[in-house]
Amino acid sequence: MKALDELTFDNRFARLGDAFSTHVLPEPLDEPRLVVVSNAAMALLDLDPAAAETPVFAELFGGHKLWAQAQPRAMVYSGHQFGGYSPQLGDGRGLLLGEVYNQAGEHWDLHLKGAGLTPYSRMGDGRAVLRSSIREFLASEALHALGIPSSRAVCVIGSNTPVWREKQERGAMVLRLAHSHIRFGHFEYFYYTKKPEQQKELAEHVLSLHYPECMEQPEPYLAMFREIVERNAEMIAKWQAYGFCHGVMNTDNMSILGITFDFGPFAFLDDFDAHFICNHSDHEGRYSFSNQVPIGQWNLSALAQALTPFISVDALKETLGLYLPLYQAHYLDLMRRRLGLTTAEDDDQKLVEQLLKLMQNSGVDYTLFFRRLGDESAALAVARLRDDFVDLAGFDAWAEQYKARVERDGKCSEAQRRERMHAVNPLYILRNYLAQNAIAAAESGDYSEVRRLHEVLSKPFEEQAGMEQYAQRPPDWGKHLEISCSS
Ligand code: AMP
Ligand code: MG
Repeated sequence: MKALDELTFDNRFARLGDAFSTHVLPEPLDEPRLVVVSNAAMALLDLDPAAAETPVFAELFGGHKLWAQAQPRAMVYSGHQFGGYSPQLGDGRGLLLGEVYNQAGEHWDLHLKGAGLTPYSRMGDGRAVLRSSIREFLASEALHALGIPSSRAVCVIGSNTPVWREKQERGAMVLRLAHSHIRFGHFEYFYYTKKPEQQKELAEHVLSLHYPECMEQPEPYLAMFREIVERNAEMIAKWQAYGFCHGVMNTDNMSILGITFDFGPFAFLDDFDAHFICNHSDHEGRYSFSNQVPIGQWNLSALAQALTPFISVDALKETLGLYLPLYQAHYLDLMRRRLGLTTAEDDDQKLVEQLLKLMQNSGVDYTLFFRRLGDESAALAVARLRDDFVDLAGFDAWAEQYKARVERDGKCSEAQRRERMHAVNPLYILRNYLAQNAIAAAESGDYSEVRRLHEVLSKPFEEQAGMEQYAQRPPDWGKHLEISCSS
């Protein structure tokens, strides 16, 4: 375990120089205070959790103090936003403080979001509000606990700094961790600004530091692109299998590492709804739940375009062609496991699709359905779940097929079935209304709810005593909360 002042830095991205990022100091928040901390994320930095309680912690992550070895930088990138190209974005309110390496030899970017104005702030104020900072914190740690690749979050620091959104709110900062903050949009920036030397430097940086195994391949950049395609296919399969809607899949929000990144108006589905749009500014539904799958491919094509200086168009196209089949294989594998199946049959895809259609038509809670399906034998479970469906004949027909399929899958005891299914079907997910309750309390100065919710979500598959209220369908007021893009 290390004390706060014992972190060791190795700022590899900063060393790329001024063409890639700009030195900017954080602008401190007034009266910074700890809102919530993730001990699991602290451990990635070898930090003693007790360090979070010391005043210097809130000063460091509230922008008042810096380590001597830190080199705060705002990164430049661009990206496709809602399908249109924005030639210059960049860290408008977040700073890469530096890269810390831990005792396991891993490097972690420390990224402070909400740290003030940068040359890339455009019309923005460089700040993030408490509400969106809590949402990002909870989501990144909850996704990780579900086994979905994501950036991580160490803490939220609250403050008295006034910040204007639709109304006056208060500024906050999140300390985010990732092995890299390089986005698809970084490659697009150097490609479209026609800076081939820097683009090469960036590509070499990513290849050597983040995809070293690809350097052994005959075509290292192609191998790297293939790996990025594979990781995205797997990540998006997990989003779809667990009902996560990202909300703003612009290419500047897509990580080169295939992790969930840059949280905005995201949501986990309550009722299953393939057409769900979580971002109320997304009028066309470009980033609706089911569109996430083709948009994943669209984004990879945008990256492919930016990689044309290094890889032939034919090879890029062929590799892009792997995305959908890989996605489908991962998705089906996960859904089979969610249904308690251990073998594969050709008709499993249909079994999943029919179930989702029934759930959609009856507004069935996506998370609780699968959890309850594993509570007891297939026959008992479907008999109990039947009441949730409006189309009873449709559900009965599905249930008969399912029971027969479970039978063919092989014998297992009820206890084995429960254990196997509960290990992949969470009881607790980050429902919007739960986040909303925690935010409302935190905005009035009570951080206990956000801390408790974070705790519960850190073990989503384990039933926790006294936490029944976190495993319920939303109350009426919490059903279709509109989440604003402003953050
Ligand atoms: P986002 O929608 O959060 O992914 O942000 C898109 C772009 O806008 C990025 O370049 C952000 O850094 C920038 N941005 C978002 N909010 C702000 C803000 N309040 N101040 C400055 N820049 C911002
Ligand atoms: Mg972003």
